[in-house]
Amino acid sequence: MKTSSLRIVPLPTEIADAARRVVNTGVADHALITVDEHGSAPCRHCLRWAQPGERVILFPYAAIPSGQPYSETGPIFVHANECPRYSVTNEYPADFRNGRVFRAYDADYNMIDAEVADGNDPEAVIEKLLGNPKTEFVDARSVTRGCFTFRIRRA
Ligand SMILES: [Zn+2]
Repeated sequence: MKTSSLRIVPLPTEIADAARRVVNTGVADHALITVDEHGSAPCRHCLRWAQPGERVILFPYAAIPSGQPYSETGPIFVHANECPRYSVTNEYPADFRNGRVFRAYDADYNMIDAEVADGNDPEAVIEKLLGNPKTEFVDARSVTRGCFTFRIRRA
């Protein structure tokens, strides 16, 4: 569904590319994994599930930067090979309509609200959270494992 009021913000390409360079140096916190099950590894750059047989990099990402009470670094996947950054930024990514929780943050990175969209329209949940004038951005995360998936801002 297209929506004019939201802007999907995928992982920046420079962060995906840095992980692709670093994984080849053998550092302990970047793991190269071959996906064996659909729906197990969401790529934060193209915003699609990695397919069985595709290789992904698992590494820690600071979705909420350090130095804040709500600072948070956690594991994310990106495709090990180059993939196109998600570009349909006015459209909610179809692969992640289920299983996401949406957390609203203010301009100082304080978490001010959160809601699970299971069984609901994720766009409606996001628009409600962005309807609070204090909300600066909304982060979509896995409802089960808690991992950061992508960010949503006002268009
Ligand atoms: Zn990808």
